Amino acid sequence: MATLRLGCIADDFTGATDLAGNLVRAGLRVVQTIGVPRGPLGEEVDAVVVALKSRTIPADEAVAQSLAALAWLREAGAQQAYFKYCSTFDSTPRGNIGPVAEALMAALGTDFTIACPAFPENGRTVYKGYLFAGDVPLDESGMKDHPLTPMNDANLVRVMQAQSKGRVGLVDYRTVAAGPEAIRARFDVLRREGVSIAIVDAISDADLHRLGTALAGMPLVTAGSGVAIGLAANWGIAPAAQAATLPAPTGFRAIVSGSCSVATRAQVAAFIASGGRAFALDPDALSADSGHADMLAAAAADSLSQGPVLVYSTADPEAVRALQRRLGVDHAGTLVEAALARMARHLVERGVRQLVVAGGETSGAVVQALGVDCLRIGPAIDPGVPWCAASSPVAGGTVHLALKSGNFGSEGFFDKAFERLAALA
Ligand code: ADP
Repeated sequence: MATLRLGCIADDFTGATDLAGNLVRAGLRVVQTIGVPRGPLGEEVDAVVVALKSRTIPADEAVAQSLAALAWLREAGAQQAYFKYCSTFDSTPRGNIGPVAEALMAALGTDFTIACPAFPENGRTVYKGYLFAGDVPLDESGMKDHPLTPMNDANLVRVMQAQSKGRVGLVDYRTVAAGPEAIRARFDVLRREGVSIAIVDAISDADLHRLGTALAGMPLVTAGSGVAIGLAANWGIAPAAQAATLPAPTGFRAIVSGSCSVATRAQVAAFIASGGRAFALDPDALSADSGHADMLAAAAADSLSQGPVLVYSTADPEAVRALQRRLGVDHAGTLVEAALARMARHLVERGVRQLVVAGGETSGAVVQALGVDCLRIGPAIDPGVPWCAASSPVAGGTVHLALKSGNFGSEGFFDKAFERLAALA
């Protein structure tokens, strides 16, 4: 794959999709893989995003997985490596951002990189090294109460220093505003001072573009998804709709929804209210008899020729809590996920080739049930949710997937998704 420009390692799945979306918007053809691929990719693209689940696992495991991803990306010919983490810099004093960044630097034989979670479009800015979420410093935002990675310090130089062996420095907003030459000159100064990781300020998209130019040829970039928007120009790539080209859709249409988030509940209600055919999974019936899901899937599949079908477990918080009380939180979740994944598989066996999945965990279970390990990223339906094309052994070929995490998408999302895909044909 001679043209692979950017090899990305993302520390979680939805973060990977977010980055892939930014790269596609910037004009790169992108494939996202679920974990480290076992063999070479079958298609020519400009960027590959390897999605790991390494954000909150022990640091040594995150390092091992990230190094395996890097080895695969280098084998595939990637010219530049990009380690993607959350724009709220989700990490603990032990990592995993610092240890992974330093391990990747060592593997690449480089002594300098940047760290910049800024994504102004989404309200994440870095000013004098302090990360802001909207109008408040990170440690005053909801991130201070995060269950896994509470962020109690907004000063990224300190946060990064606490989890890194090398010295951490700062490229401040004045330097970034002065342009790529000034940024590079500052990199040189920091390097001479023995700094190996530079936090970079960015308060606007223009900053990200200036930074992007300065990053040309840097072996490793570590960042949120925002910095990606400034890199494409380094390879002479400009935004172009063709980057999001997918094969023409075929087959029947279905929606599988296991998300109980506010946005999804409104989307399910809107689909049903507009006359869509919907099949509700009853978790209690399922708990008593696993055949319930199979019967429901068969009934849904029987009516596929009449238009899109929705199978769903989506319920309001009271019903979810009641089930969790009866079955336990974990068991309730995995029971429903496994049933929805089996139903998705059945629908694809019966000819569904356009599948919308609502729910992050539900998407993970469905993708696994379909044997999908690689997604070609297409055009966005709503911000953060693209159509993808994937090869599935269950489909015996290509299936189009839209994997929507809970709170994404407008109310008419399901119909809009199919309309959007039909427009590609
Ligand atoms: P989201 O992206 O909205 O968080 P997820 O799919 O990640 O959605 O998570 C939803 C979780 O809730 C899954 O584990 C799913 O199995 C579970 N779930 C779905 N429907 C129900 C229900 N009716 N009762 C209890 N749990 C449910």
